[in-house]
Amino acid sequence: MSTTPQSPAPTGMYTPGDSSAWSQRYADAVMNTFGAPQRVLVRGEGARVWDDEGRQYTDLLAGIAVNCLGHAHPAVVDAVTGQLSTLGHVSNLFTTPAQVELAETLIALVYPGLSAAESRVFLANSGTEANETAFKIARRHGGADRPRVLALENSFHGRTMGALALTHKAAYREPFEPLPGGGEFVPADADTLRAAMGEDVAALIVEPIQGEAGVRPLPEGLLATAREITREAGALLIVDEVQTGMGRCGAWMAHHLLAPGIIPDVVTLAKGLGGGVPIGAVVATGQAAHLLGPGQHGTTFGGNPVCAAAALAVIRTLRDEHLPERAAALGRRWSEQLAALPGVSEVRGSGLLLGVALEEAVGHAAEVRDELMDRGFIVNAPRPDTLRLAPPLILSDADADAFSQVLGEVLTSRTTREARA
Ligand SMILES: *Cc1c(COP(=O)(O)O)cnc(C)c1O
Repeated sequence: MSTTPQSPAPTGMYTPGDSSAWSQRYADAVMNTFGAPQRVLVRGEGARVWDDEGRQYTDLLAGIAVNCLGHAHPAVVDAVTGQLSTLGHVSNLFTTPAQVELAETLIALVYPGLSAAESRVFLANSGTEANETAFKIARRHGGADRPRVLALENSFHGRTMGALALTHKAAYREPFEPLPGGGEFVPADADTLRAAMGEDVAALIVEPIQGEAGVRPLPEGLLATAREITREAGALLIVDEVQTGMGRCGAWMAHHLLAPGIIPDVVTLAKGLGGGVPIGAVVATGQAAHLLGPGQHGTTFGGNPVCAAAALAVIRTLRDEHLPERAAALGRRWSEQLAALPGVSEVRGSGLLLGVALEEAVGHAAEVRDELMDRGFIVNAPRPDTLRLAPPLILSDADADAFSQVLGEVLTSRTTREARA
């Protein structure tokens, strides 16, 4: 192996003020799947991050609903460093106390009040991998007699081939066809869903709130109806809580809040679960908990004790600091505040997963996002008319208020600019 003399030394160091150099090196080394990165970030603490030019931002996106305790939370740092310096990885030929404890804890979180003996967990590494596992569980249910798997229009379940087959957006799917078969998309409407359901359906997968679609909660009552319809047809109900779970929406699971009392067969988790370390989980109950048998699924990294320890620390901290309740209270107050701003047409979502819909006069949401970034706030624009807020659940009232103030100023100046033009 030879190295070219001009290749930069892999130091991971940065020189303040050379963002353009990093962006160029990114473009020359990283596959162009995400577009140009908006900033080069070098440090984070709580709800703040700093870029390589020393500018500070309030992070209202949290790595897309991941950093639920903010950046560098001591509970996560201690859990990860403690576990890594004790035992970092063992493969699934072995187990560790952290893996077992996490599985037990997740069963109690997802299915409170149910006998734990009925449920089982599979630990994975990401959201798409959790949904891929759920898809395989669905395939094992009914076999050739149940070839169909229903998903909703505007769904997002991930980018690997199976999860992609259940993701609605044609631009994500079509370049990769043929995808695993049997996936069908149904509008989020009770009557249509009822008509599409049948005894040849293995599963229905739903997000309680469609995050990538612009933070769109399912119509009132639809989740409960989905449970009823799937039970009648003998199909599994898979609830994708990858973005909505782990306290973000104001309860441990969004379905606890939106359809209290329903029991999904399978629940998938990722994003907030590890507080920043990559981990996904599939929690299943009843027959669905036993559909994957020995040799039918696997992963080298899944259940890794470092990630499991991080997840346990996240859960302990969320519980001790009552952060799901905090998400509910702050989210309620904040969404009222945001909905009252000029240029905002509605605020959707629950807890600290909010979609701020903008009036047309404001222009493209991506332009608003860029202005907010210049003023020190990180948000994203999942749709041309919607900003998404998914901050750490530790966000202070003062930070939320400061954002409302700045967003109000940005939107006012954009609408007056528009009116003058
Ligand atoms: C982000 C997301 C996924 C995919 O998770 P990855 O970790 O990016 O693979 C799946 N489902 C939903 C609802 C998501 O928001």
